[in-house]
Amino acid sequence: MSRILLSRRQLLAGMGGLAVLAGLGPVGRVWAAPRFHADPFSLGVAAGDPLPDGFVIWTRLAPEPLAEHGGMPSAAVPVRWEVAEDARFGSIVRTGEALARPELAHSVHVELAGLQPSRPYWYRFHVDGADTSPEGVARTAPAPGTTPDRVRIAVAGCQAYYHGWFDAYRHLAAEPELDAVFHYGDYIYEGAAGRTRAKRPIQDENGNPVNRDHVGGEIYSLDDYRRRYALYKCDPDLKAAHASVAFVSSFDDHEVDNDFAAAHDQDGTPPEVFRLRRFAAMQAWYEHMPVRPALFPRPHDRTAYYRRLDYGRLLRMHVLDTRSHRDDQPCVRPGQENCRTGGEATASILGRAQEDWLDQGLGRDTHWNLLAQQVFVMPLKARAPDGRELPPFVDKWDGYPASRAKLVRSITSKNLTNVVIASGDAHMNAIGTVPLRDDEPDGPAVATEFLASSISSNGDGALETPHVRRFIDGGNPHLALVNDLRGYQVHEVSADQWRTEVKAMDQVQRKGGRIRTVARFAVSPDRPQLHRL
Ligand code: FE
Ligand code: CA
Repeated sequence: MSRILLSRRQLLAGMGGLAVLAGLGPVGRVWAAPRFHADPFSLGVAAGDPLPDGFVIWTRLAPEPLAEHGGMPSAAVPVRWEVAEDARFGSIVRTGEALARPELAHSVHVELAGLQPSRPYWYRFHVDGADTSPEGVARTAPAPGTTPDRVRIAVAGCQAYYHGWFDAYRHLAAEPELDAVFHYGDYIYEGAAGRTRAKRPIQDENGNPVNRDHVGGEIYSLDDYRRRYALYKCDPDLKAAHASVAFVSSFDDHEVDNDFAAAHDQDGTPPEVFRLRRFAAMQAWYEHMPVRPALFPRPHDRTAYYRRLDYGRLLRMHVLDTRSHRDDQPCVRPGQENCRTGGEATASILGRAQEDWLDQGLGRDTHWNLLAQQVFVMPLKARAPDGRELPPFVDKWDGYPASRAKLVRSITSKNLTNVVIASGDAHMNAIGTVPLRDDEPDGPAVATEFLASSISSNGDGALETPHVRRFIDGGNPHLALVNDLRGYQVHEVSADQWRTEVKAMDQVQRKGGRIRTVARFAVSPDRPQLHRL
């Protein structure tokens, strides 16, 4: 790579003045004549957070994804972008230039505006000295006040790289007419290499062993997190999914550290120390997700990652953050050092501000309300094979019964019957209802909950395993389906019906897995009740 680094003044002189860089803001050192030995678009392209008039388009320049700084020099690089109405880019409707800055790992986030509602747009990037990026496509949301015939939203997450292939994403990329993918989190895992490799062999199409392990130790620094994202984002199936549909990206614990709660990690690290790690993790998350600059990480917890997206009058998506503002989990594990003692009556999984924000936004403005979030909301009981009742799952809403009661009050006080919850995290499919009262799971329900299984985490699945047997044996009458298959779910939403398909892989540890629909459900907006189709 030849690196010609010019000062801003030299660059402006050489390029004919300010006009060239108008709109880019102040720049530091700019790599004026880039030359690349390898594809700088190795991590692909992505779009996200669609509004009626546009969405975010994203890329990151990383010619050597796992090398220091992704193989980029310590200088900013101008990146041009184009948006077209057609896949051949015959009708280009927007162009512009963004600066890929070293401070942000040479990522760019462009907020498109002024586009037409309810239609697809194609986008691509170009940087001097390299071939044009792959093309991506995404749909704008319907115009405000309109009710589209249908909206199709997939839900996916939990993609442990070392547990299996991302073939499910290849199938997701081929799903017809998806409007968006809600990614609930566990996009990366923070663990060290070598932890689970021996237990779970990963094979190519022909059955030959393949190393799909993490690189390096447990991740702590900004560079560590960037390299982990780079490893995951090089996956061709994941890249295909991003290029095919807009993502609405959230995060769960493993984007930072297992089971973290606001400024508390599992190990009792002093909060002021853990905050530094969390900040590095969230910077890297921002750098790699197609999210709007409103989600730029700011110190002192001043970024609200929760947000709402409307699909006309059909669907309001409330994207929740159940990690950043929660109280610590209660102490239930022996030897657990950093946890809350007592306080169950008040402990919050959303934090007061987000609870109020959710309460204010839940209503009848749209036919449906979707709470797009991370962990099990419904209360659950589980039993070990010997019949012993297992302790509550305190990392879920079960650790925060006061928060759940508040959500239930929010729903019932407004007489809402149109609340659907999307969850993940548990590495299984689980579909059921949230009861009005925790101790009456077979009593009236206030919402339906669709917990989507993992893309790859836990490796090859099966309909029934000890992992899900615990919940079957627990006796949970409000659970309509539970299985331990990998895959994703697709929700097709129309004004008078919510339809969900559970899509499951036959294998993920061997490349080339196929997908099929293993269950279908329907819900009416008049009543939070599941109908198996
Ligand atoms: Fe997970
Ligand atoms: Ca998780």
